[in-house]
Amino acid sequence: MADDATNRVLIAGLAMARALHRRGMPGLVLERRADVAEAGLAINLPGNAVQALAQLGLADALGQVGSPIRRREYRTERGRLLFAVDEGAFWGARAHPRCVRRGDLLRLLADGLPADAVRRGRAVAAIRQSAGDVSVELADGAVERGGWLVGADGVHSAVRRSVFGEAAPSPALLGQASWRFMARNPGLDAWTLWAGAGGLFLLIPVDRDEVYGWASVGGAGAAGRDLAAVRRVFDRFPQPVQDTLDRILLRPDAIHHSPLEEVRVAHWTEGRVLLMGDAAHATAPVWAQGAALALEDALVLAGLLAGGGDRDGIGPAYEALRRPRVGHIQAMTDRLSRTATMPDWARNLLLPLIGPRSYRATYAKLRVPVSA
Ligand SMILES: Cc1cc2nc3c(=O)[nH]c(=O)nc-3n(C[C@H](O)[C@H](O)[C@H](O)COP(=O)(O)OP(=O)(O)OC[C@H]3O[C@@H](n4cnc5c(N)ncnc54)[C@H](O)[C@@H]3O)c2cc1C
Repeated sequence: MADDATNRVLIAGLAMARALHRRGMPGLVLERRADVAEAGLAINLPGNAVQALAQLGLADALGQVGSPIRRREYRTERGRLLFAVDEGAFWGARAHPRCVRRGDLLRLLADGLPADAVRRGRAVAAIRQSAGDVSVELADGAVERGGWLVGADGVHSAVRRSVFGEAAPSPALLGQASWRFMARNPGLDAWTLWAGAGGLFLLIPVDRDEVYGWASVGGAGAAGRDLAAVRRVFDRFPQPVQDTLDRILLRPDAIHHSPLEEVRVAHWTEGRVLLMGDAAHATAPVWAQGAALALEDALVLAGLLAGGGDRDGIGPAYEALRRPRVGHIQAMTDRLSRTATMPDWARNLLLPLIGPRSYRATYAKLRVPVSA
């Protein structure tokens, strides 16, 4: 089984570099990993992520990769449809949700950046601030200086730990861990989630041949890595789940184990140091908002940094603009996560009633693009 670190991949950092570059501002991305790690997985981009990518100049390029998600289906562990959402109608043509390979998303974000905008194999080890600048000491002893430091270094952010004090991520309400993989498409043309007492199983078509899959298991021992135990949880699930599991278990190395961790901290800014993406607000993937929020953070922050004006006001303005949207996602994530822990009969009774309303209540606010 592959470790989750192999698919933590710099979406926020590249988005920030791109947003700055589009405004004619210089930026340097320091990335700990020496290689380009994208692990071959995919990512589900809800309409607000698609909007943000368009604001980053990538609307046409995005249309060339992955595939649009027209419909979501929520089903029981026996396959009965609880409710469906017409995503195409909800988001409209300009923000049609898409599922794309992570490698494609990273390539798009990096496209057109100056060759030296990203330095790989450079781990941030220590940070010092003075009145007008920030200096960063790297693990190899080198020092980089700049006007601002944006901590886009993920859920276990060294920047957050160093500048904002120890704020360890907490386990998500949804569960302790999940597994991600790519598999042959068993004939699905919709985003499909099967929910049962022991676990959740989601398949999203990336194209006609391939699906991106995600499974989570509740209860004691769920953080473990025993794939045979995970397999047993889904014994009663319908054929597409059984076939997919049997096939992927032949290649356990291609299954990615991901702890489900969240970051909820009181401050994202301290002087000239700012946090964004998972470093600021990692959230369980219930509404698939990780990439979307990171892209939006980048747009808002680049707008403020390029705007001139009071330098001391940038951090507070960034938090004031972003906290309401992020707080909304966190609240809606908790709300839906609670239904995952309900007994089957209660969830199956409740979801057809509250499911469509939750979808609308969560995403309606996000249809308004961020102003950048
Ligand atoms: C199971 C699961 C499923 C998900 N599904 C989706 C989905 O479908 N849609 C979606 O939008 N989101 C999804 N997410 C969330 C999404 O993957 C993240 O929100 C997104 O990757 C955040 O990007 P980031 O750039 O902020 O952090 P990361 O992807 O973690 O990137 C941080 C980068 O910082 C680097 N780094 C770390 N420490 C240092 C250091 N000291 N110095 C220099 N570099 C450093 C790392 O190597 C890494 O490249 C999912 C998450 C999980 C766990």
